Amino acid sequence: MSLERERELDDAGAGDVLALVVQAVDKANQGLVVCDGEGRVVLRNAPARDLVNARDGDFLAEKAIEAALGRALGGSFHEETLDLYSPTRHTLEIRAYPIGGTNPPSGAVAIVDDVSELRRLEAVRRDFVANLSHELKTPLGALSLLAETLDGEEDPEVVARLTSRVGAEATRFARIVDDLLDLSRIEAGSTGSLSQVALSCIVGEAVEGFHEPAAVRGIRLEVAAVEPELYVMANRRDLVSAVSNLVDNAIKYSEPGGAVHVTAGSEGERAYLRVRDEGIGIPRRDRERIFERFYRVDRARSRWTGGTGLGLAIVRHVAAYHGGDVSVDSVEGEGSTFTLCVPLTDQEPAGG
Ligand code: ADP
Repeated sequence: MSLERERELDDAGAGDVLALVVQAVDKANQGLVVCDGEGRVVLRNAPARDLVNARDGDFLAEKAIEAALGRALGGSFHEETLDLYSPTRHTLEIRAYPIGGTNPPSGAVAIVDDVSELRRLEAVRRDFVANLSHELKTPLGALSLLAETLDGEEDPEVVARLTSRVGAEATRFARIVDDLLDLSRIEAGSTGSLSQVALSCIVGEAVEGFHEPAAVRGIRLEVAAVEPELYVMANRRDLVSAVSNLVDNAIKYSEPGGAVHVTAGSEGERAYLRVRDEGIGIPRRDRERIFERFYRVDRARSRWTGGTGLGLAIVRHVAAYHGGDVSVDSVEGEGSTFTLCVPLTDQEPAGG
């Protein structure tokens, strides 16, 4: 602040300065309550006022703040965490300090932080680390068991079988790590620049390589022709890999004799990429959760098919950073339809 400005404030007088300070503390995110030496509240900023008039849990918060101020008036710093369950679940951190000397203090201030979101994020991170450790431990455990069994084994047939399982577990491990790296790259916003790509190219590249595995599993892979003049702004690699993920799942979660249909087109200003299967379907209660990292409806089946449990989490992130979304429609025992939508771009790329 300039000297001139400070002088102006002096001229304005202490009352005006106090009014400014009161307005300023109203802008803080934290609740602030100040009391005098008798415990009378002399200042309560807007976030702290919000706590007072409410019911139930917030009444408890008010009581806790009063008690904290009382303790601080006793001359020492006081800190506590309060978990409230009503009207909504939230966690408050209350810190109270004596002010204006300590023996006795002429007042006290309580600072109240709503740390609910921070706590939620910490819990998500803890869950993720626990899940990740478990996911990586499974193939590692299998690898070490296979190595032990291989040690000293002389039957060439058994050696060949175990060696091929070592290869499969190592591939699974590498796939989890690759998916994790993809996910963290996309979550960190490192998505590269978007360029115009024909929708038909995305579909063509996404289904490439799936005709044979589908045929081997006795599943018909039907890909409808896509109007050639539809374009999207995309990170080609990520969008292709997202659609591939949906096709891969559709095949994995189908029974022999079923069909997988891939279609794409426009709906208003958006392009859709749709993968429909006639497979096992997804129970209603799991439909939202399948987009979470490591969430699987049937862990054993996902493991048997070599799934990482990260595919749909990646698809959702890719859709989001393209300005779109992914949704699922499913009937248990009849099949599922995944639709990924992204905005259309109406210009043709330079040079056609
Ligand atoms: P995974 O690697 O296990 O396939 P995903 O993230 O791709 O992981 O999918 C999460 C879960 O969603 C799967 O484990 C499966 O239970 C369910 N799922 C995904 N796609 C389909 C589908 N087309 N049909 C039935 N279930 C599906």
